[in-house]
Amino acid sequence: MLVLGGTTEASALARALSSRLAVDVTTSFAGRTGSPVAPAGRTRVGGFGGAAGLTSYLRSERVDLLVDATHPFAARMRWHAAVAAPAAGVPRLRIERPAWQPVDGDVWRPVADVAAAARAIAAAGHRRVLLTTGRTELAPFAGCRDVWFLVRSIERPDPSVLPGAGVVLDRGPFTVDGERALMEEHRIDALVTKNSGGDATAAKLVAARQLGRPVVVVNRPASPPGPLARSVDEALSWVDAALAAGDRGAAGRQVGEAGAG
Ligand code: NAP
Repeated sequence: MLVLGGTTEASALARALSSRLAVDVTTSFAGRTGSPVAPAGRTRVGGFGGAAGLTSYLRSERVDLLVDATHPFAARMRWHAAVAAPAAGVPRLRIERPAWQPVDGDVWRPVADVAAAARAIAAAGHRRVLLTTGRTELAPFAGCRDVWFLVRSIERPDPSVLPGAGVVLDRGPFTVDGERALMEEHRIDALVTKNSGGDATAAKLVAARQLGRPVVVVNRPASPPGPLARSVDEALSWVDAALAAGDRGAAGRQVGEAGAG
């Protein structure tokens, strides 16, 4: 089984499957993070060379099941998986945790992408902004005049991209108290986040609500249609069904279908 990783769900799935003698799991990383948390089972690092490269890999490694557990904002890999899996005759499942939803008291400004988030920040006249969209997508914010950014990321961003920005290197899970303290210490007046979903990084939304700070929320990119699990447990059910059926086509009918868009 090949798990396209880079998320907590991918690691949790590999861990859960590692105790099953019938499943030989390889987790694949893009190689963006220097020190990814090592999952159970085997790992490989680096791109496959597009959908064609992934198709070749699935065939040459005789992969029986493909689980796309890439991040909700990893926009390309899911499409490669959706092309490569049928080409190689391999059932494919995507795991994607549910998106966060606003609740009473939230002041959310949903936007389509990071560039739109930068435009929203510039237009709103915010002065001190916490940026949690990742170190590789800072460039659009360089055009925001008279805004000081505090960038939080796992690895240090290139300082030339957003000169003058403050940097906090940290990896979740985060607590509400910690997020409140960070925002208060730096007098943050707005937050920018991708709608990644999940518990590990949701505390910033609660802290922003408690402090009455607006949040620019980047919506998720579209996903290809096909079987979709919302949790690791759902994914395990799909794997069990696929193994039990011994029929590659059967697993796709066990869980909900994702629609593009
Ligand atoms: P992407 O746009 O979907 O992928 C770009 C390219 O990176 C792909 O075409 C593929 O190269 C390679 N790639 C992506 N995921 C891979 C994997 N699991 N194993 C092997 N190659 C992979 O994704 P991205 O936004 O650059 O993110 C890269 C990785 O970081 C993903 O695995 C994702 O789960 C993780 N991640 C992303 C975010 C985010 O906000 N984007 C956040 C947290 C974690 P080839 O075409 O050469 O195969």
